[in-house]
Amino acid sequence: MTQQYRITLLPGDGIGPEIMAIAVRVLETIGEKFDLKFEFQEALIGGSAIDATGEPLPAATLETCKQSDAVLLAAIGGYKWDSLPRHLRPETGLLGLRSGLQLFANLRPATILPQLIDASTLKREVVEGVDIMVVRELTGGIYFGQPRGVFTTETGEKRGVNTMAYTESEIDRIGRVAFETAQKRSKRLCSVDKANVLEVSQFWRDRMIALSAEYPDVELSHLYVDNAAMQMVRAPKQFDTIVTSNLFGDILSDAAAMLTGSIGMLPSASLGASNPGVYEPVHGSAPDIAGQDKANPLAQVLSAAMMLRYSFNQSEAATYIEQAVLKVLDQGYRTGDIFSEGKTLVGCQAIGDAIVAAL
Ligand code: NAD
Repeated sequence: MTQQYRITLLPGDGIGPEIMAIAVRVLETIGEKFDLKFEFQEALIGGSAIDATGEPLPAATLETCKQSDAVLLAAIGGYKWDSLPRHLRPETGLLGLRSGLQLFANLRPATILPQLIDASTLKREVVEGVDIMVVRELTGGIYFGQPRGVFTTETGEKRGVNTMAYTESEIDRIGRVAFETAQKRSKRLCSVDKANVLEVSQFWRDRMIALSAEYPDVELSHLYVDNAAMQMVRAPKQFDTIVTSNLFGDILSDAAAMLTGSIGMLPSASLGASNPGVYEPVHGSAPDIAGQDKANPLAQVLSAAMMLRYSFNQSEAATYIEQAVLKVLDQGYRTGDIFSEGKTLVGCQAIGDAIVAAL
């Protein structure tokens, strides 16, 4: 029987519409092959939403997202909107989407593709074979804890404050996502904290240890965040799945991403408990190359593959897309951001055509 899925498309700004168009073609092609029917609904977010409605996340967009099975987002932002007040900035739309859909888990894979190994700034022997998944808590911790602000003390001195706080349920729900993610991978989970200094981190560690009883097949280890950062660049192959809090995850996931050396290749997923997940490339809207057919659509295409795997449980179709991406790289096609000597420089459209042909 044909499986049906409703997908909200949020092309956003800059290169967003160009790379989204390629992802849609890939999904349509894979749909025919695997007997999956996708119903696409496009909605506004970011700068394009500001231009059309005055708001970066119109209520209608959030509602459309809530009614769908998954959301595929491209990127938002651009010079044009950079000087607007904070509540009217494109990024505010993104934060609103995350909180509106209660997306508490951010999954960011960093996989070194053999074809692009020389794009990494680290030595080949250090990064060859790296395949890391960072599971970052997204809606708690120091980015949201109260009190926060800049206050004046009794002596008249100013004092800036943020609060790192986690409840048991907040830790347990991200922990469960991480253990289940590790189960789908090589069953090794490293929890990163700062339990030697922070009470909140000791609590985090205690909860991860308690949860591990429910996942006897997953091997749990712990690292302090400073050591984790060091190990990430010293010997990244030791990591499989990493789980960590909002602040530490923000930093470590960017470091892990850069092991691969190519921002145009990295997908991500943000998941909640019951709402649809949001799938998007790690990169931004690249306004410097927008509308020039220079964008690399592969992170967007790989985000669509992640959506098939994590929201629709269509692992085989997801793998098929990932294999097609590898095949196109094997054929030597490269967009400007991943181009090297001896390869064939192509634009966004042409590499999209090559993926569809490979499928
Ligand atoms: P960026 O990721 O957009 O671009 C950084 C550099 O990488 C640029 O030189 C760009 O041309 C290149 N690049 C990025 N993606 C590429 C791709 N797919 N193919 C080829 N080259 C690519 O980051 P930035 O320049 O710091 O930000 C630009 C805008 O994007 C800003 O308005 C920023 O707020 C926004 N942004 C949005 C998101 C998001 O939507 N999640 C994330 C980061 C930045």
